[in-house]
Amino acid sequence: MTTLTNCLLPLAGRAPLTIVSGAGSYVFDSAGRRYLDATTGIGVNALGHAHPRVTAALIDQARQSIHTSNLFHNPFQDQLAKRLCAMTRLDCAFFSSTGTEAVEAALKAVRARRRGRIVALNRSFHGRTIGSLAVTGRAKYREPFGQLTPEVIFVEPNDCAALERAFDGDTAGMILEPILGEGGIIPLDADFLRLARELAMQHGALLIADEIQCGLGRTGFRFAYEESGVQPDIVVLAKPLACGLPLGATLFSEEAADALPPGAHGTTFGGGPLACRLALEFLDVMEESLPHIRRAGDQLLEGLRGLQQRHPAIAEVRGRGLLLGLQLDVAGARFVESARELGLLINCTHETVLRLLPPFTLSWGEANQIVRALDEMFVQAS
Ligand SMILES: *Cc1c(COP(=O)(O)O)cnc(C)c1O
Repeated sequence: MTTLTNCLLPLAGRAPLTIVSGAGSYVFDSAGRRYLDATTGIGVNALGHAHPRVTAALIDQARQSIHTSNLFHNPFQDQLAKRLCAMTRLDCAFFSSTGTEAVEAALKAVRARRRGRIVALNRSFHGRTIGSLAVTGRAKYREPFGQLTPEVIFVEPNDCAALERAFDGDTAGMILEPILGEGGIIPLDADFLRLARELAMQHGALLIADEIQCGLGRTGFRFAYEESGVQPDIVVLAKPLACGLPLGATLFSEEAADALPPGAHGTTFGGGPLACRLALEFLDVMEESLPHIRRAGDQLLEGLRGLQQRHPAIAEVRGRGLLLGLQLDVAGARFVESARELGLLINCTHETVLRLLPPFTLSWGEANQIVRALDEMFVQAS
């Protein structure tokens, strides 16, 4: 029996830290202690904390309208849809509240179009609803819930031969994260992405890119699939999109969208004016930040590679832009704790990967501070 220390269902492994405020790359606890935030609310606070443009837009919009429902139009949802369609070269948008719901909408389109199998990747993470759980490539998350609806074939990331074997005329679609996030920052090779595109095309299946964690500027590019030249049929977005307000977006090609006629899907909260206005603000700042994200990411990567030379516990450094992971050869949980004691917030994913998701506004000095704190952390541990 779990001991309940407060009234929360103890599902999340929470650190003994209460965050009361934040500014830029830092958060502050109830005792006023400052922490450099390389978790950014799991990639949500990508513009850092209390960004002046975000705060100003939020206050201004809260005075006008927070929620209208989708019985009506609101100006920001229409603008945001146009903008995201132009960015993804897709044709229409559906807004929901969370990542898992954005994935759910994508899966519903795939299944409505063809009742076939779905191909997904081992170590993938797509969310916690029954549908998105069904394509999540970790048995630990899936198995407690028994048989999940769609039939899914899981393939090892970057295993091109296995990918070819997974597709046939009954394949309805494939879902992939161009860089697996929860799975431990595993970038998919451009060749693997191109093969997925080609196989989906050959078999008349839809290709879904889950860019919830790796997309929207995180890698220094708008989308992580961009550099491979692959054009997905459906792109799924959420985490940083509305600067901390819940907002998911599913972008469809015309062909994919045809599978969801009026009434086939819906939401009460998704795409409200406040969340969509913040998303437009986010996109403006993100576009301006792309060159900086690439530079800051390169600097951080170089620093982490330096650490790898000095500390044998680091087996590999992976990632791109400001989505970086340290593959350890030991469990990572205790390092998360010692980093926190040194004033640095990181988290551990897939048991042995320390994940860094710092804000896009990370300065040169802050990037160095991350490297120095990690260095001290590994020195203390050895
Ligand atoms: C976080 C995440 C999700 C789920 O998003 P929620 O908002 O937690 O439902 C789905 N896919 C990826 C790649 C994610 O990182």
